[in-house]
Amino acid sequence: STTATATTNHVFRSKLPDIPIPNHLPLHTYCFQNLPEFSDRPCLIVGSTGKSYSFSETHLIAQKTGAGLSNLGIQKGEVIMILLQNCAEFVFAFMGASMIGAVTTTANPFYTAAEIFKQVKAANAKLIITQSQYVNKLREHPSSADGADQNNFPKLGEDFKVVTIDDPPENCLHFSALSEANEKELPDVVIDAEDPVALPFSSGTTGLPKGVILTHKSLVTSVAQQVDGENPNLYLKEDDVVLCVLPLFHIFSLNSVLLCSLRAGAGVLLMHKFEIGTLLELIQRYRVSVAAVVPPLVIALAKNPKVAEFDLSSIRVVLSGAAPLGKELEEALKSRVPEAVLGQGYGMTEAGPVLSMCMAFAKEPMPTKSGSCGTVVRNAELKVLDPETGLSLGHNQPGEICIRGSQIMKGYLNDAAATATTVDTEGWLHTGDVGYVDDDNEVFIVDRVKELIKFKGFQVPPAELESLLISHPSIADAAVVPQKDDAAGEVPVAFVVRSSGLELTEEAVKEFIAKQVVFYKRLHKVHFVHAIPKSPAGKILRKDLRAKLATATPA
Ligand code: ATP
Ligand code: MG
Repeated sequence: STTATATTNHVFRSKLPDIPIPNHLPLHTYCFQNLPEFSDRPCLIVGSTGKSYSFSETHLIAQKTGAGLSNLGIQKGEVIMILLQNCAEFVFAFMGASMIGAVTTTANPFYTAAEIFKQVKAANAKLIITQSQYVNKLREHPSSADGADQNNFPKLGEDFKVVTIDDPPENCLHFSALSEANEKELPDVVIDAEDPVALPFSSGTTGLPKGVILTHKSLVTSVAQQVDGENPNLYLKEDDVVLCVLPLFHIFSLNSVLLCSLRAGAGVLLMHKFEIGTLLELIQRYRVSVAAVVPPLVIALAKNPKVAEFDLSSIRVVLSGAAPLGKELEEALKSRVPEAVLGQGYGMTEAGPVLSMCMAFAKEPMPTKSGSCGTVVRNAELKVLDPETGLSLGHNQPGEICIRGSQIMKGYLNDAAATATTVDTEGWLHTGDVGYVDDDNEVFIVDRVKELIKFKGFQVPPAELESLLISHPSIADAAVVPQKDDAAGEVPVAFVVRSSGLELTEEAVKEFIAKQVVFYKRLHKVHFVHAIPKSPAGKILRKDLRAKLATATPA
């Protein structure tokens, strides 16, 4: 019947009309397409030195870097690894690689040798761009105690070259070998829209990080969904200064901060690491107007007393993503930046990464609700699957979020089986996140399917309890995980960081939650700790806390 079709094929769309997206273009061509309109405007501003590069300088150095990579033997389809904190060289290398049809995989420079080698090997990286202080990790192979076969590891000099952005150690080259090459030697390569350009790895929050293949078409589509059109969903202007403190090795910052700013002509303020004092000073000095943040940074901005000493009035947009941000924390931040529009984007590496974006960031803004992750991006389809029946659900019914569109990944790296279970034959990417779409088409993420705590027959989303805990004035940070329980199966327990110098008892915490939630969401235990483990992308590492619970009684 018609009603059955209507409810079982419920697809959610953006409130913005679809637009033509030039996703036949290579990523660099697309990103620099509007450059003549703002060639002399600042493109990259290096926070630590104050040095800035205009759009035309950035474009030229990227071309030189592309030529330099080619001179060092990097060919179309080959992979380079960027193992750097945020810096201008990161941008030159990524865009330069794109220009020669090469692919960039990005990794956290704080990774151990074993973690780096795993990625170098999986991606088959031929060249690594890093800083001299990390080169030792590229020489020392992970010990054979890890069960690793020493002969099976790629070797510096033989299997991959190393370029450093500072004084090169033995057998390494300086970045000037790339950035001072002759741009006229940039090889003429034919790039297909379906060719890969980036190989980001997922954050490894729930398991091992997974290599994700993103093509030129994926990234062009994703950027266009955010910043293109008469009424862009994420309106960035030429006079904007966009904060780039989140690591560019994570796709959120690479896409929504860097690539979107390049396309729109906004300046990017690069910070190589997060330190609250420096951050506040730079926001004030450069009059940052758009701040891309993650929940731990929101906690700092909302709770750190230093914030009151700085002028943050230049900030017009705060975009939070990568992890759940509850309304309580959102409200707390609002009081610190009353002039700014606050909202969220929801992303997943495999989705290119943006699935939904706050409509209050549009050129013609629309009202949005606190706690929402925005509305599905344009030129894409979103549905909510009932895990029991596999049917798609209508408004306000929670289920697994799925997305379809040209922005999603081509597949996982070297893992056809995982690709097949994640992207179905109809092209839907299954996110593993539970959420719902409300009457105004706003997406609300409840939590990950895997992280839901099952108390008897009831589901308890840890993110909801964490958000409540954080709103307590004596709580600096918190995380909630399941603990095995004979009677209930699982019960929610909390790890809590007290605000410095404040008294707080376990009973007080339990009571604070109990009076705000239904009985099955009550906390069964509170462990006071000094810090909550988080990934550099801002995610709570609940798996570490679960392991802690399993091995011993945490103090
Ligand atoms: P792994 O897949 O390796 O375990 P990960 O899923 O954390 O790690 P990412 O791709 O960086 O790796 O993160 C995507 C996930 O982050 C989403 O599936 C979702 O759970 C979470 N997420 C992103 N944005 C939001 C948001 N605004 N609100 C809630 N959760 C979010
Ligand atoms: Mg994931």
